[in-house]
Amino acid sequence: MSLQPNHSQFEAWVSHHLPDTLQVEEGVWAAPLPLKGDQYVRHTYTYLVLDDRGSVHVIDPGWNTVDNRTRLEASFGQIGKRLTDVKTIVSTHLHPDHTGLASWLQSQSGAPILMHRAEADATESGPSMSIAVGFSKRLRSWGAPWAERTKLYIELWRQRQLKDEISARADVRLEHDDVLDIPGRRVRVLHTPGHTEGSICLYDEDTRSLFSGDTLLPMVHPGIGLSGGPQSSRQNPLARYFDSLEALTRLDVDMVHPGHGYSFQGLPDRIEETAGHHRRRSDEVRSILLSEPDITLWRAAEKVHWTAGWANLHGFMRLSAVAQTAMHVDYLRSYPAE
Ligand SMILES: [Zn+2]
Ligand SMILES: [Zn+2]
Repeated sequence: MSLQPNHSQFEAWVSHHLPDTLQVEEGVWAAPLPLKGDQYVRHTYTYLVLDDRGSVHVIDPGWNTVDNRTRLEASFGQIGKRLTDVKTIVSTHLHPDHTGLASWLQSQSGAPILMHRAEADATESGPSMSIAVGFSKRLRSWGAPWAERTKLYIELWRQRQLKDEISARADVRLEHDDVLDIPGRRVRVLHTPGHTEGSICLYDEDTRSLFSGDTLLPMVHPGIGLSGGPQSSRQNPLARYFDSLEALTRLDVDMVHPGHGYSFQGLPDRIEETAGHHRRRSDEVRSILLSEPDITLWRAAEKVHWTAGWANLHGFMRLSAVAQTAMHVDYLRSYPAE
């Protein structure tokens, strides 16, 4: 594999340390903010992007905890800025590790919150509901046995993932091809549905760097179809994700700044690995369905060879595994093998 990671972020990742707030390129800093609970990706990178007037544009404000507020304020101090210098707040998608601190940052700075139209719609439709609750409501239709549903609910409660509501509301709805208002930079919005319906990547055309959110990560293949609402599986997120990856291969990218892990070079290789991973998983689900046509989704998910092993998937990770299986089944129905 020919990924070239940012050295100190990579060192921190493999040694299980929280990296420092680092300058990852001219005028761009990555502030690592821990996720709530014990989660594999550990922290979100909140990017602070400086414009040519000295203002700060925030990409993906991390999980809303008191500690993270203190951390982010310290990161601003480190680069000689204050929270009142924030001019815009952009979230690459609606998950709480990418929108958590948005409302708080807005209260400190008055800056508008920007999201893709699909995420803005999802956060406004009805009472706000956590992603975990959205999925746990679908468990019965996926054939999860009562005892398993109860166990999962308890795990979600222990991981404190039932209450993480998405509270941010978008002031500006972004569309594909919009250019962000960051003086001195040309940062274009690319709609890359898959991980969620309204996931976006941000492409700086001058520096050729890509802020990839959770659409592409260096150390894990992102889950697909994780909008949480009932709409997510119907829209065939996997097919759309393959299209998103295909579109990204046409970009000229020097450096990728992801939502988690570490910045890296080598986008085409990572796209290929990620697409290959999902294709192999689809093949696996297809052979499970061929050998047991009447199998429930829950049982099919149990039979998939998950990287961590089914037995080690708890709480939201297990929920996500079943959701991933459901999505592959939908994909196979739309694109049956010849
Ligand atoms: Zn996400
Ligand atoms: Zn994330």
